[in-house]
Amino acid sequence: MLYKSGIHFAKAQDQNDPLAHYRDKFHIPKTSEGNEWLYFTGNSLGLQPKQTKNHINQELEDWANLGVEGHFEAKNPWLPYHEFLTESMAEIVGAKPIEVVIMNTLTTNLHLLMVSFYQPTRTKFKIVIESDAFPSDRYAVETQLKFHGFDPTESLIEWSPRAGETLLNIDDLASILDTQGDEIALLLIGGVNYYTGQYLDLKKIAKLGHQYGCKVGIDLAHGVGNILPNLHDSGVDFAAWCTYKYMNSGPGSLGGIFVHERHAHDESLKRFAGWWSQNKDTRFDMRQPLDIIPGAEGWQLSNPPILSMAAIKASLELFSEVGMPALRKKSIRLTGYLEYLILELQNEHISIITPKDPEQRGCQLSIQVRNADKSLHTKLSEANVITDWRTPDVIRCAPVPFYNSFEDVFNMVETLKTVLDA
Ligand SMILES: *Cc1c(COP(=O)(O)O)cnc(C)c1O
Repeated sequence: MLYKSGIHFAKAQDQNDPLAHYRDKFHIPKTSEGNEWLYFTGNSLGLQPKQTKNHINQELEDWANLGVEGHFEAKNPWLPYHEFLTESMAEIVGAKPIEVVIMNTLTTNLHLLMVSFYQPTRTKFKIVIESDAFPSDRYAVETQLKFHGFDPTESLIEWSPRAGETLLNIDDLASILDTQGDEIALLLIGGVNYYTGQYLDLKKIAKLGHQYGCKVGIDLAHGVGNILPNLHDSGVDFAAWCTYKYMNSGPGSLGGIFVHERHAHDESLKRFAGWWSQNKDTRFDMRQPLDIIPGAEGWQLSNPPILSMAAIKASLELFSEVGMPALRKKSIRLTGYLEYLILELQNEHISIITPKDPEQRGCQLSIQVRNADKSLHTKLSEANVITDWRTPDVIRCAPVPFYNSFEDVFNMVETLKTVLDA
């Protein structure tokens, strides 16, 4: 794709963008003077679709009018409510419906999945994570190791970038497995790294891990609704994600899980269960022995929060309407445009650490700031450009194809230029 400088190019791109009108379907936050923010933090908290309120109001009304009968009589009955979300969620992550369910929140789900897929023995017990793993994932893994009686200083292996580099190289994961594969039980890897924005090859990771008899899990928090992870084909054993980032489903909203079909009917897998793990036909007999639902649904514990699911339903309807391939297509252009404009500044105070290859990144670009000068981020915020700062020295900036325009990107880089020149 060829890019050009100047606002005219941005405006022309927006005019020819078949998804441009979706911006109007979202609430764009405004300053107290009524100017729209330039919002580039959909990787942290996605914006609210205008139709979300109606979906939540529907459930509030049904609760008001029906009380407990809403479980069966609500317009969208609460008892099977999660089922209304499964098909479109599965499509977004490239999975079969039996492989996906919406439940709990992300870190909780990582623990529940590790109960099943981290089954250490005295000789095969180590876990591999990225050296730059999201802190919650690291804490989850460290405490799982301790729970099973292992010392994280010996049993937690970090896959790190090479000296002087910032990105991960799959050959280094291969070397780790080559030397310690016999002792490794699990790889738990961020599919899109939250810090660098690097999108890893899930299929290669799964193949490598399985070659050494390891289970392979993927944290897809920064990938879902952003890239096309093709979870089923990738062959990973499990994955988990949240829905409040690119999935636009509201702060602290529920997460999703993927469990590969090959495990769907494996009753020997250990797990923690609750009444929502139980076969739907006998769940309300209340005195039945545990009979796990096949597939991802069998990992559910509780009857879920409908108000949060209503927000997810509202968002999924937009995703189904547009389809991930169209979003991804625009995303590649939009992020490529941001990269082009930043490189055009030729400013030595900043550099982009995210991979150049669109196949190895999603929306996000991570801009490394020389001397870790956080004031650059502060000044951008003061100019109503919303990005986020991650220590030690990165500004994360995610143009989201659903609601960011080419003009947003142009204006963002104009502001960046002004701030850098000042
Ligand atoms: C956002 C994010 C989390 C947050 O976890 P919650 O349990 O939803 O608070 C965890 N891991 C990664 C990789 C994330 O991007």
